[in-house]
Amino acid sequence: MKVIFHPRFYEVYTSDPAAAPGRMEPMVKALEKEFEFIEPGPAAERDLARVHGKNHIQSVKREPQVFEVGILAAGGAILAAETAFEGQPAFGLIRPPGHHASPHSCWGFCYFNNIAIAIKKLLSEGKIKGALILDFDLHYGDGTSNMFSGSPAVSYFHPEGNGREGFLEEVKRCLQAQKSYDIIALSAGFDRHEEDWGGLLKTEDYFTIGKWAKEASLERCLGRRFGVLEGGYNHSVLGRNVKSLLQGLSN
Ligand SMILES: [Zn+2]
Repeated sequence: MKVIFHPRFYEVYTSDPAAAPGRMEPMVKALEKEFEFIEPGPAAERDLARVHGKNHIQSVKREPQVFEVGILAAGGAILAAETAFEGQPAFGLIRPPGHHASPHSCWGFCYFNNIAIAIKKLLSEGKIKGALILDFDLHYGDGTSNMFSGSPAVSYFHPEGNGREGFLEEVKRCLQAQKSYDIIALSAGFDRHEEDWGGLLKTEDYFTIGKWAKEASLERCLGRRFGVLEGGYNHSVLGRNVKSLLQGLSN
């Protein structure tokens, strides 16, 4: 299991909860002893252009620091996807998050759709023919859903469920989708935790989700699996929640 991280993700590039000071440090601290860290380069303009319109890219460029950290986050998702494609599970410990970024607009602390940029790159290079995206963030990833609506190659799932058990049941069902896929991508938001905004999941549930994603990938797509960070705002529990997911997801 490789963790993709760049020191610039520590920067407070704007004033929203995803960019808050002190958010990344506890996650780095929780993971650095157990997992190997690798540093991404920035996504190229052509990588952004596969999913976003020119005007959207230009509008993010007007905030230079957001743009610079944003293309590193997208580059981090790409490196996580490529590492997974080559046979090593990986996690993009990145920010800003991406699942609320659509082709021509964004909101909800997002700028570029990291996971969509990564998946479209693998698709466009012919490395994969299909992907399953499981988004277990508290919030619906309208951006990711918009990116792939009408695309038979990519299935986007956002479990809702009824209560904790119902939610986990739905996660399981999503991973057993009938269609075939060549990689599993997790939009990993931790804001559904019992001590975060959603007030629902326990820390060990992230281990379970990671383990199920690993098992599905071994059954269906040669073990190819990666995740990227989306939401999660209680700094005092983020470290153990991310670690729990990665322990389930790793070999
Ligand atoms: Zn969220």
